[in-house]
Amino acid sequence: MDIRKVGVVGAGQMGNGIAHVMAVAGYDVLLNDINQEALDKGVGVIKSNMDRMVSRDKMTAEDRDAALSRITTTLDLPELGATDLVVESATERETVKQAIFEDLVPHLGPDTILTSNTSSISITRLASRTDRPEKFMGFHFMNPVPVMQLVELIRGIATDKPTYDACLAVVENLGKTAASSEDFPAFIVNRILMPMINEAVYTLYEGVGSVISIDTSMKLGTNHPMGPLELADFIGLDTCLAIMNVLHDGLADTKYRPCPLLTKYVEAGWLGRKTGRGFYDYRGEEPVPTR
Ligand code: NAD
Repeated sequence: MDIRKVGVVGAGQMGNGIAHVMAVAGYDVLLNDINQEALDKGVGVIKSNMDRMVSRDKMTAEDRDAALSRITTTLDLPELGATDLVVESATERETVKQAIFEDLVPHLGPDTILTSNTSSISITRLASRTDRPEKFMGFHFMNPVPVMQLVELIRGIATDKPTYDACLAVVENLGKTAASSEDFPAFIVNRILMPMINEAVYTLYEGVGSVISIDTSMKLGTNHPMGPLELADFIGLDTCLAIMNVLHDGLADTKYRPCPLLTKYVEAGWLGRKTGRGFYDYRGEEPVPTR
């Protein structure tokens, strides 16, 4: 399977990062979103991230210009039918992802591989609603995509070997490392990470510690580069809540129940860095804890 053209659905924090690394690796990228503002913002983020790499001598100006010229944007999802590989990276909601694949399938060439960057949703279930479960798999990048080394590759029950091998070759072309995970709720990284973040929110909710004392404890006490609440804001609290719900529903164990305080932040629209406020308020010069 010769992959040259990659379609990316969703130009949010993950989608623009995926478009960035694909373009740097030489793939032609077609980036799609439902709103023009998200596309403009996504391309703006890619440009400023590449500019930063040029100013730090991690990339030449010529390579940046060549990579940027390989990225085009579209509001028209069916245009992605002409790509060899689609990486769906829209909002973490199963109905949203299902609708995207449903709308896309009639426009696909026979060999296009479909993948999802979902953090937690069943690959087998998403695949079963397309015409090509054997050519469908999980392609799970970490945030921020240009910096993080790992990609989790998740095979659904029907995924065939050529599809897995083609995705593995893409990961290698990106200069990243793949880890293979079976298709169970939240796969490997988030199965372990999210319960820790959720527990940090419970620790805050129960008054055991403040935002600062919880993050300081985990940074200085366990050598984590970011505290769990800071990390939750970075990931997006809506995404964290969605993953906890998938763990709770999928594994039917009360140990995965989402903390009510996490739900409350999401209800308030305080989703973390991307909305300017979460466990910290980012609207001033320095982040200020909100509790
Ligand atoms: P985000 O909120 O930053 O971006 C989501 C984007 O999807 C938005 O621009 C939105 O307009 C777009 N979108 C929504 N519906 C759409 C549709 N029907 N068609 C096209 N675009 C649509 O979210 P994100 O953090 O980039 O997360 C995207 C995916 O990546 C989710 O599945 C999430 O679980 C996964 N993921 C997130 C992280 C993280 O740390 N945030 C890490 C790994 C994987």
